[in-house]
Amino acid sequence: MDPITQLLSQVLENVRSNDDGETAQYIPELAGADPRALAMAVVGPRGRVTSVGDDERTFTIQSISKPFVLALALTELGRDRVLRHVGVEPSGEPFNAISLERGTGRPANPLVNAGAIATTGLVSADAPAGRDETIVAGLSRFAGRPLTVDETVYASESATGHRNRALAHLLRSHGIIEGDVDGVVESYFRQCSLQVTVRDLAVMAGVLAFSGQHPLTGEQVVPEAVARDVVSIMASCGMYDFSGEWLMRVGLPAKSGVSGGLAAVAPSQFGVATFSPRLDRYGNSVRGVQILERLSDEFGMHVFERHESITRPGVGVTRTPELITVRLDGELSFSGAERILTMLREIVADAATQEAVVIDVAELAHAHPSALVALRGELASLGARVSVVGG
Ligand code: GLN
Repeated sequence: MDPITQLLSQVLENVRSNDDGETAQYIPELAGADPRALAMAVVGPRGRVTSVGDDERTFTIQSISKPFVLALALTELGRDRVLRHVGVEPSGEPFNAISLERGTGRPANPLVNAGAIATTGLVSADAPAGRDETIVAGLSRFAGRPLTVDETVYASESATGHRNRALAHLLRSHGIIEGDVDGVVESYFRQCSLQVTVRDLAVMAGVLAFSGQHPLTGEQVVPEAVARDVVSIMASCGMYDFSGEWLMRVGLPAKSGVSGGLAAVAPSQFGVATFSPRLDRYGNSVRGVQILERLSDEFGMHVFERHESITRPGVGVTRTPELITVRLDGELSFSGAERILTMLREIVADAATQEAVVIDVAELAHAHPSALVALRGELASLGARVSVVGG
């Protein structure tokens, strides 16, 4: 067993005996799920998926569909139009709350039911007949394989989803949903009934972690700006009325669903997912929360802990009698540029008059605009001996 698999297995075994919580009771098909199921998966930037436990078991995606459908709506309509129909504030309320802004009826939070149903109504609104297809195709692109609807779960949700239907009609009365409101609710039930494995979920989270780019295929699934928006919203709104405590404890943008799935995003590092059907009083998977808390600690994933690389760009210096080459790689931020400039000033001060200094930026993966401005401004003052190549 390779070391990563081993580490994940240990984390999994540590939580296995915890049988707190119960499966979602309000959707008959979910109530009967195997409560012992337990799995987790992680995908890294080079597309390697590592998974342990019941990693081939399929379950319905439920609320974890919400951030991905939101990504589709943001891509199709842009931020401003989406924000006219749904807010991005943590509502601090349960997932099925009647959480609508006074007066406008705009739902506060796109990751609880009211906001998610409104979001579903925005997708393909000009050609609603194709909405289901757009959503299934869109989420399949995130997963990197064709996803299908579990018709039994869909039928079960549709037969019992009176509260969601009521929410949708309230949204319709405020003009937040336009047109065929019943069709929108059915699309919402279908999106929640898409079947995934824990590996699919990790890959889907990975697309968000890697700026909208698929870690396995390299396809740009959604624009980078959309991925950033969605991840931001997951950070504040993704875990229902546990979102604040989750951000403090685990520090990862995430989304949970009532079938027991949980997907988390460690920006630029990992997509992570867990599956364990027993839920806590917020509707989040008990063992999923426990696993992520542990994993975030062990892998140093908390987004607000120190990440030194942003202030320490990769730099290598090589010298020949006439030439000093300074190679930059990785990410160059404003504070990183400061560090490089200090170093360059020293190199230039120490260099013999015949030596030229070349800064090679060919390997720089990402440079912040402010860093480039700072670098260029200062370079001019270092004189003609310093030049930049590879940019
Ligand atoms: N389909 C479920 C519902 O609408 C999704 C809720 C969830 O996963 N929290 O009630």
